Amino acid sequence: MRKYVIMGVQGSGKGTQSKMLATGLDLVHISVGDIFRWNIQQHTKLGAQVRRTMAAGELVADETVESVVRERLSQHDWNYGFIIDGFPRNRPQAEFFLESYDIDGVIHLDLPDTEVRRRVLARRLCSGCGMDYNLIEDSPATNGKCDSCGGDLVTREDDTEEALAVRLRDYHEKTNPVLEVFRRKEYVVTVDARPDPELVQQAVRNGLALPPYQP
Ligand code: AMP
Repeated sequence: MRKYVIMGVQGSGKGTQSKMLATGLDLVHISVGDIFRWNIQQHTKLGAQVRRTMAAGELVADETVESVVRERLSQHDWNYGFIIDGFPRNRPQAEFFLESYDIDGVIHLDLPDTEVRRRVLARRLCSGCGMDYNLIEDSPATNGKCDSCGGDLVTREDDTEEALAVRLRDYHEKTNPVLEVFRRKEYVVTVDARPDPELVQQAVRNGLALPPYQP
């Protein structure tokens, strides 16, 4: 069983890299942001609770995030392990996590802020199936439509200049110290997130001593 955490600033490719890692190794990909977005789309009580905070690019309260993570992991559908994406994002969340679960490694996707801005502002999301697109490198075949399900591509509510500035500030202030905690435990593999996704994935696997990626 393998348990990984993936960290990196917005737009660093956490979702893409998690999915690539999860597929080959039969890991369950758990994205706290995706769980929140699903709840917003389905108009649940949790969705209503987190919507404004998310749209402003701010962090959702720790108790809410922790209960979502606890509930998701308690489903125990992760026989071969999991990769958790977007969590922990600050020191209290890291402490909560380390008290309850041991982890095998932390993948840190490293991306300079200038590149983050370029990528995030070009990001689109399918309103039907949730697939991620980047209009710079990964445009859909038909403008504004998902290649996979034909759904409309939309901009994430928090992919704006304003929300991005808040998220970058929080990342540097609150999430970087978490990396320091993990680094002290020698869990962290830092990978340059600028190359093509497959090259990044190879580097992740090399760093974690895992078998090579096979598309
Ligand atoms: P993401 O998809 O990981 O970029 O997350 C989108 C948004 O969900 C964030 O900007 C936060 O508002 C919220 N969120 C996701 N994960 C967390 C977390 N671990 N702690 C607090 N808020 C979170």
